[in-house]
Amino acid sequence: MKKYKVSVVKCSSYSSKKVREALLSCFNNIGFSFNSLKPGSKILIKPNILAPHKPEKAITTHPVVLEELCRILKKHKFEIYIGESSSNSTDKSFAVSGIAKLSKYGEIINFENQEKLFIEIEGLKTKKPLKIPLPKILFDADLIINVAKLKTHGLTQVTLCTKNLYGCVPGQLKSRFHKEFPSPKEFSKMLFNVSRKINPELNIIDGIVGMEGEGPALSGRPVKSEILVMSKNASAADIVASEIIGFDPYSIYTNKFSGIKKETIEVTGDAKNTRLNFAKPKISMIPFLPLLQRFIPQPKIKFNYDKCKQCHLCEKKCPVNAINLGPWPKCTHGKCISCLCCIEVCPHDAVYLEEPAARRMLKSVYKKFLSKNS
Ligand code: SF4
Ligand code: SF4
Repeated sequence: MKKYKVSVVKCSSYSSKKVREALLSCFNNIGFSFNSLKPGSKILIKPNILAPHKPEKAITTHPVVLEELCRILKKHKFEIYIGESSSNSTDKSFAVSGIAKLSKYGEIINFENQEKLFIEIEGLKTKKPLKIPLPKILFDADLIINVAKLKTHGLTQVTLCTKNLYGCVPGQLKSRFHKEFPSPKEFSKMLFNVSRKINPELNIIDGIVGMEGEGPALSGRPVKSEILVMSKNASAADIVASEIIGFDPYSIYTNKFSGIKKETIEVTGDAKNTRLNFAKPKISMIPFLPLLQRFIPQPKIKFNYDKCKQCHLCEKKCPVNAINLGPWPKCTHGKCISCLCCIEVCPHDAVYLEEPAARRMLKSVYKKFLSKNS
């Protein structure tokens, strides 16, 4: 039976020294070494740079984690590439997130401007596989290092190593695929299939400061979680991380599709017993009787007009044209597929989910029922 090692170590701050020690300790715990790679090997780092946000917002992989990784890689004289396609303004995202300054260690790559290869990806319901363009450099690199952020996500519950790789799909295609795969299950299957094609050999989760609640962007709340997670397998890292932050790991479709059982994962490191109870996103909160979900009123997209700057980004991003500005944004709820791209892209935190009172009530009844019976 195949075994997977996942290292979880404590790291209390983004001090360079602490991050470096945490990384080295993780390499040791999972038995990872760069010795099989020759000097000059191409190493591609894929961070999470969702959109132009500063590191303290905890939306993007912290630049210190990437910098310490680059320093370790430089010692081996590797060629370093750091690549991303953000949900909007990739070049600006590199700059605002503080990651552009890492160009002193290697090349910063906007995946949108790269040569692509068309890769066949299957979804759940799609009969014919989809052909998705992915940057050719993913297949030319000698090693891919996936450096995700520890965050909750309104649609997929969490965004960790598997979902981070979706940032390799260039530009607007990312939101268009929400239309092809509208349900969280279908979308997650597609995410999992994309991640399998990329298959990074090293996966790291920056959970030094994570994000809880309505992640993955400005509506979420940064939380000092003080851990760094590492594994050679993206799904194994995700299963362990999602359990640490308080989810049933197999309620997350991307974890479930991996087929990796908990018994096959060996968790090591000084923080392996950490348990955190991250606030869960509103949309994914009634885990019982999934068939009933359609009869329970769903949260609705709303706008805070005091915060809105009428920038049109949400309107442009919506894959089903459910948002119109006239001059203020409005959502046609009948068209909305709850992909939450509008929340993710809004630079002013002006889009939110409003939860109907009946749903809130059901959730609180369910919580009470769970606490009585646990
Ligand atoms: S993205 Fe945000 S700020 Fe821009 S129009 Fe939409 S709600 Fe307003
Ligand atoms: S309104 Fe927002 S959540 Fe609804 S489909 Fe459009 S982008 Fe997705």
